[in-house]
Amino acid sequence: MSEEKSLNFLEEIVEADLASGKYKFILTRFPPEPNGYLHIGHAKSICLNFGLAATYGGQTNLRFDDTNPVTEDTEYVDSIKEDIRWLGFHWANEFYASDYFDTLYEYAVTLIKKGLAYVDDSSSEEIAKLKGTPTEPGKDSPYRNRGIDENLRMFEDMKAGKYADGEKVLRAKIDMAHSNMLMRDPIIYRIKHAHHHRTGDTWCIYPMYDFAHGQSDSIERITHSICTLEFVPHRELYDWFIEKLGIFPSHQYEFARLNMTYTVMSKRKLLQLVTEGHVTGWDDPRMPTISGFRRKGYTPESIRMFAEKIGVARRENLIDLSLLEFCLREDLNKRALRVMAVLDPVKLVITNYEEGKTEDLISENGPDEHLGTRHVPFSRELWIEREDFMEVAPKKWFRLAPGSMVRLKSAYVVQCTGYSKDEAGRVTEIQCEYFPESRSGSGSTEFQVKGTIHWVSVPHAETAEVRLYDRLFKVENPAAEEGDFKEYINPDSLQVIEKAYVEPSLLLATMDDRYQFIRKGYFCLDKEAQPGKMIFNRTATLKDTWVKQQSGES
Ligand code: ATP
Ligand code: MG
Repeated sequence: MSEEKSLNFLEEIVEADLASGKYKFILTRFPPEPNGYLHIGHAKSICLNFGLAATYGGQTNLRFDDTNPVTEDTEYVDSIKEDIRWLGFHWANEFYASDYFDTLYEYAVTLIKKGLAYVDDSSSEEIAKLKGTPTEPGKDSPYRNRGIDENLRMFEDMKAGKYADGEKVLRAKIDMAHSNMLMRDPIIYRIKHAHHHRTGDTWCIYPMYDFAHGQSDSIERITHSICTLEFVPHRELYDWFIEKLGIFPSHQYEFARLNMTYTVMSKRKLLQLVTEGHVTGWDDPRMPTISGFRRKGYTPESIRMFAEKIGVARRENLIDLSLLEFCLREDLNKRALRVMAVLDPVKLVITNYEEGKTEDLISENGPDEHLGTRHVPFSRELWIEREDFMEVAPKKWFRLAPGSMVRLKSAYVVQCTGYSKDEAGRVTEIQCEYFPESRSGSGSTEFQVKGTIHWVSVPHAETAEVRLYDRLFKVENPAAEEGDFKEYINPDSLQVIEKAYVEPSLLLATMDDRYQFIRKGYFCLDKEAQPGKMIFNRTATLKDTWVKQQSGES
């Protein structure tokens, strides 16, 4: 660790544990439940767990927390692994909580034998009724004092499938008057006759989260088990099981979960967006999922930079989406190849340029020399952006208007000599004359014009579909608004341009390439593109257009 950078609270804990000799080796874990795709909040947790261990020469396990057979799926397992790899992290071991079902069952038997667990025949309503409230103690279940032998036999019968779902549960015997409600004889096993994505039909009883998580940590000898703040009240129970079972003392630490503006960050809500068709899938570029960001053109570097910048806190807050976009632009500005694409085309004709002639102009791929150069064909007829021409221009207009001069990027200076309109008054063509001596790179200083516009040669243009994305929700914090969060979906979150014109070099684009369409934003090829059908996603605008709108500049 560099000296100047102050440590976050987890780094302080790890350093103290290493210094005191409590642990010689740091082992963390990332424990997703395979019931959905990972979102940007998970990315924060991944960067934290993998980053912390790596900083101190330790390792990280990937553990699928697959104790709930009903909602889990191997599709999710595969997507989670792909996302972690894409972010640039390597796990030491791939484990599944379901691998520990036998051990967990043995642990439960141990608790029963110690008189610390019992089978309860009460229904879930009856159990809830006796639970008490935060201010009132609960009451003992009538089954609480069942003998150890009867408990052992009944638990075995639960496992053997002799009971229906909900008929019995196994509970830890702690204290029905405990100030922490979670310590009031929590349920540790429930009956669920359901097929599990890994263990199939072997089990019909499944451990509850609290009885699986800490023990799985302990089995793997995890030193620092990091989770989000909502698990603070669970820590007492986590420690209780470890102590009563006398197993490896893993420790739980909590940090604030990531919440971000203009989106929702819960798998349950994201699943609704997918199943109800508000988006095209988990990897829709408007989704806050890692796969959505990837498809939209985000880089792993930008997401890691974001995780670094937000740091780890012990207080919940709402992070501005524009911070993530800032990190993205920082990264893309360095790596994106600059190309020309016209999204809303109008034709420009250079009347004094030879008909049928083509020049191969050399254009830089970016401000950084290592990005290199490429050839861009130039001819008499060009597509330019409709918004770059005005029939009647205001004073400080540096683009095209009757009589005005602009530089065509990497090419010549032209002067507007006229334009044509259709019956509806829409401009159909702009005429110009060019100055042959003004060619870019010729060294001439005679032509100093204020504006430079991009263009694509008409006979050389390729067509592409371009998808422009905006934020998925109209309000900052949809989950906190009244009513259903889906009422706040932004109806204009996707705008499709069926036919944009792009320079021919884009025919070579691959999904790994990142582009800046000059003056228009950052773009990348979408996975639905095919030979003969280019599709580009806008990853981000060049600047934070929302900030501009708010300050009234735009
Ligand atoms: P969700 O509430 O979105 O469904 P989850 O907590 O149920 O998420 P898990 O698969 O259980 O999802 O999470 C795996 C790990 O990622 C956990 O350690 C969890 O604390 C962490 N995590 C989940 N959401 C966030 C978030 N928004 N910010 C930071 N960490 C998160
Ligand atoms: Mg969870």
